[in-house]
Amino acid sequence: MKYSALKGIHDIFPPDSFIWQHVENTAKEIFSSYGFQELRAPIIESTEVFIRSIGESSDIVEKEMYTFNDKAGRRITLRPEGTAPVVRCYIENHLYNLPSPQKFFYSGPMFRYERPQAGRFRQFYQIGAEAFGISEPVIDAEILSLLKLFFERLGLKELNFQINSIGCDSCRPDFRKALLDFFSTKLEGLCPDCRRRYEINPLRILDCKVPDCIKLKEGAPVVIKYLCKECTEHFNSFQEYLKLLNIPFNINPNMVRGLDYYTRTTFEVTCEHLGAQNAVAAGGRYDKLVEEFGGPKTPAIGFAAGMERIISLLKDSGPIKIPAPKVFIASLDIESSKKALSIATDLREKGLWIELGYYGNSLKSQLRRADRISAEYVFIIGEDEIKSRKLKWKKLSDKTQGEIPFTEIDNFISGI
Ligand code: ATP
Ligand code: MG
Repeated sequence: MKYSALKGIHDIFPPDSFIWQHVENTAKEIFSSYGFQELRAPIIESTEVFIRSIGESSDIVEKEMYTFNDKAGRRITLRPEGTAPVVRCYIENHLYNLPSPQKFFYSGPMFRYERPQAGRFRQFYQIGAEAFGISEPVIDAEILSLLKLFFERLGLKELNFQINSIGCDSCRPDFRKALLDFFSTKLEGLCPDCRRRYEINPLRILDCKVPDCIKLKEGAPVVIKYLCKECTEHFNSFQEYLKLLNIPFNINPNMVRGLDYYTRTTFEVTCEHLGAQNAVAAGGRYDKLVEEFGGPKTPAIGFAAGMERIISLLKDSGPIKIPAPKVFIASLDIESSKKALSIATDLREKGLWIELGYYGNSLKSQLRRADRISAEYVFIIGEDEIKSRKLKWKKLSDKTQGEIPFTEIDNFISGI
């Protein structure tokens, strides 16, 4: 084989693509019922869009971005996540002038130069949502409720909702200082990334997955204890709403999330069955990002769910019903194939999935194909059928069979 897909990048083809469609359709249905509307942002942006939003000290900006120069020498990046492009679009198109909240969802490929492993790819797909303009924690709870309904509708079980609050500009400096004090004696043992993070953004040390760093952060200051009055109230009230909605949750005081733009609420939905990469969805508030991007002061909150991880959970949770054709029409010669084609076209116009057999293949091999693709019914048309103006039908599941005049096909179909 001469060519293969790039490392960490995968093709999606049938039957898996049916599962992908099912997940995407379910998402669109649920997200719409919460008033989120689709926003399609481009896949490429100026590199600056990501650096400014995600932050210089994030894993993404430090080492994961696919960045290149275009022919005019502009720095371009393949989007590593969906929030920054949505925020850029929101501001550029003055969407903030519309009544708030403005609620959007997106879905599509993201690109990160990561070490490929289970649950981690270089091109992967996210479905995400963003809500602009509301600071009340009720919307934070609505977002978790949306995620719960989405995962329930897909039949995913044993999911954990982990929440935290990482404060705002007025309480973060105290926490930062406490972290700097705590890690000042442990710098030697931290990984090189964390030593750098210590200087730029010590919060990120809490997010590090390196075993030595995990050990060293035991006993580290807990962000919730440093929250200001407003952030504490916000966090408490968020939890009250979650209780009201019967959403079980855990507070994970170490969850600071990997991107720099978060404020206050952060959350992750995890599933133990996924192994090391166990987060299916993650997000949080970013109340300052719109303003930092040059827009008006606008509180906002969003999340992104990883499609590949959802699909892998779905596949592990049992066989998935793949759609199958209603009728497979086998034909034995040119004349019968013409008849088969016109019957198929009529039925397709009614919205049914009709497959044709082709007379260049033997009847036996046509029937084998009908069986393989689990067609519900098989119609057979040959010379005799053309003469008698009737076709033979067979139901593959119970082997019942019979004949129908060509003129009665519509009636037959509406009766099954
Ligand atoms: P992690 O800590 O696993 O690196 P992250 O903080 O980079 O996660 P986010 O940017 O919040 O992840 O992305 C949200 C979701 O997108 C993740 O919870 C995960 O389901 C999915 N995801 C992120 N990176 C990848 C990847 N490289 N391959 C597949 N899915 C991914
Ligand atoms: Mg990551």
